[in-house]
Amino acid sequence: MHIKEHFKSCPKCQSTAIKFDTKHFVCSECGFDFYINASAAVAVLITNAKGELLLTVRKFDPFKGTYDLPGGFVDINETVENAATREIKEELNLDITSLEYFCSFPNTYTYKEIDYYTLDMVFKAEIEDFTPLQANDDVSSIVFLSPKKIDTTAIGLTSIKAIVSKYIDSVS
Ligand SMILES: [Zn+2]
Repeated sequence: MHIKEHFKSCPKCQSTAIKFDTKHFVCSECGFDFYINASAAVAVLITNAKGELLLTVRKFDPFKGTYDLPGGFVDINETVENAATREIKEELNLDITSLEYFCSFPNTYTYKEIDYYTLDMVFKAEIEDFTPLQANDDVSSIVFLSPKKIDTTAIGLTSIKAIVSKYIDSVS
C-alpha cells in the first residue's frame, strides 16, 4: 500500500488538508512539506572458483522461500560499499576482498503493508576464503548455481530477477 494511504492528517498541525503530490506530502494549513525518496539498498554478486553464482534463500516475507542475492538496506550515514561489506559479513560470515560496481535497479519493497521505493545498487564481490560461509540473519540457506542453470522465475523480488538476468547475459 502506498505510504499516502497511511497518512490521514498532517503530523505537525493535525489538519486533514494534507496531500501527496507525486514526491512529497504537503499540508495546505501549516506548510509542512515532507519528501519521500528512494531508499538505498545493496545487492552483491558473488561467484565461486567454478563460476557459480551465490544465491540466498529468503527466510522471511516478503517472498519467503524464494531465491535472492545477499544484501540489504543501506543504513543512515553509511556508504553503499560499507553496507555491502557489512551485509555479506552479517548474512554469510564472509569477508569481501574487493568490490566492483555492476548496475542499479529500482524496486518496490512492501513491508507490513507499506510500499518502500528502493534503489538496489549492485556490486560484484571477490571472496578469497569461502570456508567461514554460513547462512545467517535473514538467509535460510545458500546455493551456488551455474548461470546457465539459474531459473530466474524462482527469484521473488522484481529488481533481483532483473539483476540476475543481466548478470547471466553478461557472462554467457
Ligand atoms: Zn499541517
